[in-house]
Amino acid sequence: MRLNTSCPNCDKSISTISYVKTKSEFVKKTGEEIEMFCEKCKTKSMVSTTSLHAVRSAAMNITIVLLVLVVIGLSFFMIKFTLAVESEYNVPYAALAMPVLGSIGLIWFMIADRKKINAFNEN
Ligand SMILES: [Zn+2]
Repeated sequence: MRLNTSCPNCDKSISTISYVKTKSEFVKKTGEEIEMFCEKCKTKSMVSTTSLHAVRSAAMNITIVLLVLVVIGLSFFMIKFTLAVESEYNVPYAALAMPVLGSIGLIWFMIADRKKINAFNEN
């Protein structure tokens, strides 16, 4: 996940990537301070590991956008497909299944990510 803090020199937000689950695990792994580089003022500085907090990563944002597009795409496909099939059964229900299930899956995925971020920030 992406860990953010502000540059002690210019206050710009700087970040690093780590795959630990909690902040205590992160402190144990990296120590009390971590060296970070600021793109804005081009300086390396030591920042306190406890000042870092988890935020949603850019990769996660891209994943969410892609999942939304996949759900929309599959929904259109399912609606077209079910409307093309001549049936006396209730076709609209089948057409609605994809957007509904897709949205539930997406929300579950976003909640799981939020929980991971919260777990890091609270420990
Ligand atoms: Zn800076």
